[in-house]
Amino acid sequence: MRTDQLKQGLTAPICLTWELTYGCNLACVHCLSSSGRRDPDELSTAEAERVVDELAAMQVFYVNIGGGEPLVRRDFLDLLEHAVASGVGVKFSTNGALLSKAMAARLATTDYVDVQVSLDGASKSTNDAVRGAGSYTAARRAMDHLAEAGFGPFKISVVVTRDNVAELDDLEALAQGYGAQLRVTRLRPSGRGAATWRKLHPTASQQRHLYRWLSARPHVLTGDSFFHLSGLGEPLPGLNLCGAGRVVCLIDPVGNVYACPFVLHDQFKAGSVRGPGGFAAVWRSSRLFEELRAPQSAGACASCGMFDACQGGCMAAKFFTGLPLDGPDPECVLGHGEAALARVAPGAAPSPGPGHSRRAPAPGGVRPPDPARLLPVLPGPPPSSG
Ligand code: SF4
Ligand code: SF4
Repeated sequence: MRTDQLKQGLTAPICLTWELTYGCNLACVHCLSSSGRRDPDELSTAEAERVVDELAAMQVFYVNIGGGEPLVRRDFLDLLEHAVASGVGVKFSTNGALLSKAMAARLATTDYVDVQVSLDGASKSTNDAVRGAGSYTAARRAMDHLAEAGFGPFKISVVVTRDNVAELDDLEALAQGYGAQLRVTRLRPSGRGAATWRKLHPTASQQRHLYRWLSARPHVLTGDSFFHLSGLGEPLPGLNLCGAGRVVCLIDPVGNVYACPFVLHDQFKAGSVRGPGGFAAVWRSSRLFEELRAPQSAGACASCGMFDACQGGCMAAKFFTGLPLDGPDPECVLGHGEAALARVAPGAAPSPGPGHSRRAPAPGGVRPPDPARLLPVLPGPPPSSG
């Protein structure tokens, strides 16, 4: 498929992220959805099933389910099985704390399902500094369960930060040891990440190292995360443009549809699956998505010789750092982002909002699983409405 076709948008999203809940047992300092507390208005099981049916009718191949921690929803496996039975594959992200041995066995017998276990360091100290005490052990235990159950090549999903770039080789070795695939993603200044991005995002020299590291490893998955690094040379494999509203979108736990998982802000809210015409109407004819699919100005990047490769970088990263959307990415590999950031007045960047963070414990602290929210492993009573 050609880039110009992708820019005009497709009849159904290629990459649809669905945050089923804002509930989470962790409080990672970079959580893009500021998760913690569940929203009392979450989509019910019946509403979520209707969304799945709609996605199936639109021939959406698969959904990326996240949150929050999707496993805190007691109906999660039922929804997953409903999706698979409807022909919609499920890739879900988990911190692993609630992924039991029995659940791994059940997942291993379900086709068309992919599991991504989040881990932000090859060492306990690096990971737990970001994701909370005990989170490394919980993630490794989940990986052990998946491997023992014969699940197959699950994913290990890493947000690349200043503190874990040096551990990428070890993370790759860890993935290989499990027969898993490494997936690395970019730290965005969204959600709680807005407050931690300046301290945690990779330095300019780390970006150059990362580009060389990724260029030598086409087997490491990245999605569209690092296409801004393509300004250093050849485009990296994968989607090399911002897909927001064109091939990418997000459904949040209460059914709102946003242009991308990293722009949870009213300015990028296109509608709701609860509105007339459901998700399809939002995807096909919301004004926001029509605007995003129209030709965009290259703005301050127009004179850059690397624009065809880099495309000006990530809209979400620009938005939440207060940069113009038609200018360079804050991590522009030619240094223009740093200069642009220095011109942003203090407090001028849009607020990511209060989110769903809990007041306690402090960010990064792990809370013990709430047994009332653990997923039933065997078929049981009708699922709750979430
Ligand atoms: S806004 Fe950023 S994260 Fe979202 S689709 Fe565009 S490039 Fe990707
Ligand atoms: S100036 Fe713009 S197009 Fe050029 S490398 Fe920087 S972000 Fe990319």
